[in-house]
Order: sequence, then structure tokens, then C-alpha cells
Amino acid sequence: MNDKKESLRALYKVDEVLQDECLIFFKKHLPYSLVADSVREEIHILRNAILSGKEPPPALNDRKLFLDQVIKRIQAESAPSLRRVINATGTVLHTNLGRSPISREAMEHVSETACSYSTLEYDLENGKRGSRHDHVESLICKATGAEAAMVVNNNAAATMLVLSSMAHGREVVVSRGELVEIGGSFRIPDIMNLSGAVLKEVGTTNKTHISDYLRAIDPEQTAALMKVHTSNYRIIGFTEDVQLWDLKKLGEKFSLPVIYDMGNGLLADLKKYRIFEPTVLDAQKAGADVVLFSGDKLLGGPQAGIIIGKKTYIEAMKCHPLARVVRVDKMTLSALETVFFAYQDMEKAAQTIPALKMLSCSKETLLQRANQLKSSIEQASDMVQVCVQPCEDFVGGGSAPDARLEGYAAVLHSDKFTTEYMERFLRKSKIPIISHINQDKIWLHVRTLLEGDMEDTVSAVSLLKG
Ligand SMILES: *Cc1c(COP(=O)(O)O)cnc(C)c1O
Repeated sequence: MNDKKESLRALYKVDEVLQDECLIFFKKHLPYSLVADSVREEIHILRNAILSGKEPPPALNDRKLFLDQVIKRIQAESAPSLRRVINATGTVLHTNLGRSPISREAMEHVSETACSYSTLEYDLENGKRGSRHDHVESLICKATGAEAAMVVNNNAAATMLVLSSMAHGREVVVSRGELVEIGGSFRIPDIMNLSGAVLKEVGTTNKTHISDYLRAIDPEQTAALMKVHTSNYRIIGFTEDVQLWDLKKLGEKFSLPVIYDMGNGLLADLKKYRIFEPTVLDAQKAGADVVLFSGDKLLGGPQAGIIIGKKTYIEAMKCHPLARVVRVDKMTLSALETVFFAYQDMEKAAQTIPALKMLSCSKETLLQRANQLKSSIEQASDMVQVCVQPCEDFVGGGSAPDARLEGYAAVLHSDKFTTEYMERFLRKSKIPIISHINQDKIWLHVRTLLEGDMEDTVSAVSLLKG
């Protein structure tokens, strides 16, 4: 009993600890309450240990150790929740890991315009109010061949705005084979409902003919024909769907616009890399009146919904009340401006847009990088065995579900640690590494390692100690 009392009396005091010079830096740069609470919490832990009557914790009599623990807590409490990770999964547009990474060039432009005042809605030429849509519209039109364009928050918002603006209170004809769910509660029938448009389903899950659309058209009720790209699944076997240009011909006959929700906004031609996704240019050529796609899928930019098409429709959307609800901010517009500017030169785009660069990386380069990763890990650690293996990479982000990309991985195993332990260790390291377990080994796919990731991966692995 007396022991306890004495120990409690000898316990560190908050105010006194806060004066320690090892905390000066933290007090200067972090919220004072965070530093003070961390000290309090560590003292609280010691007090509970004393009261429980168990073996006194070493930090009780070791001030340096105690301060180390305080600092650890401060660091943990002040680490941001949204942070950089290393994607070693080989899935390029990894939805859980932020879909497409944005290029450094684009982010430099963002920081330039977002950290200061900008021309967001200001017309420098005339010294008057301008429109935020103007910054990217002409670049998007140049890259896609469209007449007009606008940008909203994401493709879900784009779908909502397009349908509200073009079909409120009237019918939109869609094939039953295209009533997609994209995940995270984006379902075409629900969005349709929410927009006030009436879904007119035609055909069956596996087959829809042009005659199905024809029969569904009602001169009084029909507002548009819509095609949705089934980006995250494929129906194979006994199937048939109507091509965009056939739909366009039908639409023309009845003076109905054709809307195409394509999801991923592929501008480059990736057939060479065995990615057979429709491109925005294909959609334009087929004559779709309005096309919508995401900014952070195969386009390789920031989260956004991009709507292109006939000027009359786009102008009406810009004035629609929902436009304000789903509008994008200056950061997105700045990043998109850089991305679309890059697309004027496809060769250069493939070098500067991270998603394209990763998707178009050659097998030889991937093999060479996997070998390099293997030898660097071998030099840095004798706790793991590494070999290089061919692997399958994926586009991801609900795009091109059947595209198998040939990749390479550095594959780790160890007689000292279990695979689960290593996976967790890498995931919990200073820069978390998200890897893939297969055949009871850790697979580090090199396709999705960005600049600097290789070095950081090696140093994380080198810390694996017994
Ligand atoms: C991904 C996708 C969407 C949703 O796009 P977000 O940008 O995630 O809102 C909508 N439609 C299709 C066909 C898609 O592939």
C-alpha cells in the first residue's frame, strides 16, 4: 500500500514534463492540446499500472524511455489519416487506394492556383466576371473533338445532371443488360429515379435488339436513348447488344438524343496493351449527343465527371440548378487543365500521366524492375528470400474487367516469419505497403510502384528483424 502511494507521488507531473526540451519542437509545430494530452495519457497509463499492483513498468523509473513513449504517442496522434501508401498490388486504378494517381505537373498547377487567388471566375481580358467552365472547356473539346464540355464532381453526378436536364419527367430507354451497379450505391435505376427521369427498360439481360428500342419509343413520353458501358463486368456467351451508332441512327429518325455513360474516359488507344475499352473518340465518332465519363479512371486525372457533347444540351446543363450542387472546385479544374493539355500529344501524355505510363509499361521494363527490386532487397536484408515471378496485373477501378496485363513481381518468403506477419509488417510500416498474398508468399507487383516507391519498399523490408 505504502509502495503504491510512494510510486504515485513519484509519478511524472504533466506541467514539468511539458517543459522538457525534447518537446519544444512539437509544442511549436503542433496543437498544444495534442502534446499535453499525449503527456497526460502516458502518465495515466503509468498510474493505472501502479494501481493495478503489477510489476511497475520500466518507464516509471526511466525518464528517457518515458519521454520516448510520449513522443511516439504525439507522432501517432498527429499523423494524418489520409496518407501516401505504396501500391504493390499491380491494380493500376485501385479504388480503395485512390484510383488514378495524379501527375506532379498537375499538382504543381493545383498548388500554384489554390494557394493564391486565381482566375477561377474572372475574365482577365475584360476585367469582368468569368465562368469557371471556361478554363478546361476548350482543352476538352480539342482533345475529344466535342462541341462543348463541362465538368462536375464525378461521373455519378454527371449522370444525375444529364438525366435531370435532358429527361426530367419523361422516359429514357435503356437496355436491361446495361442497368449497372458501379459499387458504393451507384445504380443506374436509382440515379434515374433520383433525377426525375423515368427508366424504360428494354430487352433482356443477355440480349437487346434495335427493335426493342424501337418498340419502346413513345413520341409523347420518350426523352432520350441511353447506352451505359458495362465497365465492371462482361456478359459473354449468347449475347447481343446494340452498337452506339445504330442507336444514333434510330435516335435521328425520331429526333431523340443519345446519351452514352462510358464510365472510364479512355482517350489514348491502349489496344496495343491488350486493353479493349471503348475510347471517348469512338463515342464521338459514333455520334453520341452527350457522353459522360470519370476523371480518375483511364483518363488518369482527378476525381471528376466530364460531360461532352452538343452545345445546346451542355449549355442547358450549365444553367440547371443541379449544376451548382455538383460543381467542382479550383483544385480539380487546375489538375484537369494540366491533364487535358497533356493529351494534345499522346506520346507525351503516355509519359506524364501516371496511369497511362503504368498501363503501357513494357514487359521487359517490368522484368528489369522486378529484378532490380529483388537484388536491392537481397542486399538490404538476409531475413527474406526473394524470387522474380511473372504475374497478372489489372486495370482496376471497374474498368476493363477482363484485361489481363502481363506483369512481374518480386515474391518474398521467409523461414523466420509467417507470410501474414510480413504482410502486416509492410502494411504497418512508415510508408505503408499494400501487397498481395498468393501461394503463401508476398507478391510485390512492380507495375504500380511509382517514383521513389522501390527505395521505400526496400527500406521497409530491411526493417524486418527477428
Ligand atoms: C465508374 C462509373 C460510374 C461512376 O463514376 P464515378 O466517377 O465513380 O462517380 C458511372 N457509370 C459508369 C459506366 C462507370 O463505369
